[in-house]
Amino acid sequence: MTTDFTATRARFHLPEGVIYLDGNSLGPLPRAAAARVADCVTQEWGEMLITAWNRAGWMDLPRRLGDRIGRLIGAEPGTVVLGDTLSIKVYQALASAAELRPGRKVILSDTGNFPSDLYMADGLVRTLGDGHELRTVAPEAVEDAITPDVAVLMLTEVDYRTGRKHDMARLIARAHEAGALVVWDLAHSAGAIEVDLARAGADFAVGCTYKYLNSGPGGPAFIYVAPRLAAQSRPALSGWLGHEAPFAFDADYRPGAGIERMRVGTPPILQMAALEASMDIWDGVEMADVRARSIELTEAFIAGVEAACPGLALASPRDPGQRGSQVSFRHPEGYAIMQALIAGGVIGDFRAPDILRFGFTPLYTTIEDVTGAVEILAGIMATDAWDRPAFRARAKVT
Ligand SMILES: *Cc1c(COP(=O)(O)O)cnc(C)c1O
Repeated sequence: MTTDFTATRARFHLPEGVIYLDGNSLGPLPRAAAARVADCVTQEWGEMLITAWNRAGWMDLPRRLGDRIGRLIGAEPGTVVLGDTLSIKVYQALASAAELRPGRKVILSDTGNFPSDLYMADGLVRTLGDGHELRTVAPEAVEDAITPDVAVLMLTEVDYRTGRKHDMARLIARAHEAGALVVWDLAHSAGAIEVDLARAGADFAVGCTYKYLNSGPGGPAFIYVAPRLAAQSRPALSGWLGHEAPFAFDADYRPGAGIERMRVGTPPILQMAALEASMDIWDGVEMADVRARSIELTEAFIAGVEAACPGLALASPRDPGQRGSQVSFRHPEGYAIMQALIAGGVIGDFRAPDILRFGFTPLYTTIEDVTGAVEILAGIMATDAWDRPAFRARAKVT
């Protein structure tokens, strides 16, 4: 193992007395981020004003950061760009992919996909209004559902609820055999597991940076388009920064070269400054090491919880090869249990209807965190400490 996880952990701010098992939802603060953002505000925005778009390299930041993320997901240089939110990038990739398969009307996805991805697909189908349909099947049934009418297969590689992982290379091969394109959502893959988009023959991929990649709340999403498809992909969200020459201010839209065309509007520079601080940490990390440590942590957590908490049922695949970097357990009172756990200093989250979800992020999660979390959870379960009205009151964000 070449990655020094003690060193990476030291580069994050982790509040005293908290075991953080929710970096799969919002990554913690890189220690250098506050100073980097402050510098961007005072030195770049403050002193350079609008000249910073050139002098501080703001205009190229979405591409530069795209390449740094690209290394973690096996993307070729120059194929990833940042901007907008993940929901928007899902729409954009899907629209371009669907347009590349004229005559085929089906967008195929699975019932475990994140609702926003399905909502965006539904919105696209309504906008197209020409007989397109969104078809969803159970995750296990996806492979057999790739019929000749499928234009695009749209999947989230790692299920946000259970952590179940699709076989990316296999499904791409099946889809291509059937003449379909594939859009992968890497929200729970980028920075979580090994991904090799180029080797798998991926077409389109999207993901977010505020989960495993630690860009902070509202950080921009990323999009990947395979080099062989980039020149043919027509952006549905044809904003000026995806234009071949934004500052020509032409009346007609001409798509930019390669991945540049997937940009839409003005990029969020302050958020990207925070992401730069996180990528300074990620640049020294090997995903094979992250995966190996993640499996150690998740295996230890499952063994510990199953030994100490008989009331909790494992909702994630038992085989680590079949899951991402999170572990979920089911319990009818999952919400109250999670609130009691958070009150006890262990932060995970709850996903309706009954899932307690825990993310394992080797950059800053240790085996001591795992044993500490198991001990606190076991205490709560053994004493029914969760069984209080205060823990049942639902907050807006769960
Ligand atoms: C987190 C997540 C999203 C969130 O989309 P935003 O537009 O960034 O809010 C979408 N899809 C999946 C699969 C996710 O995990």
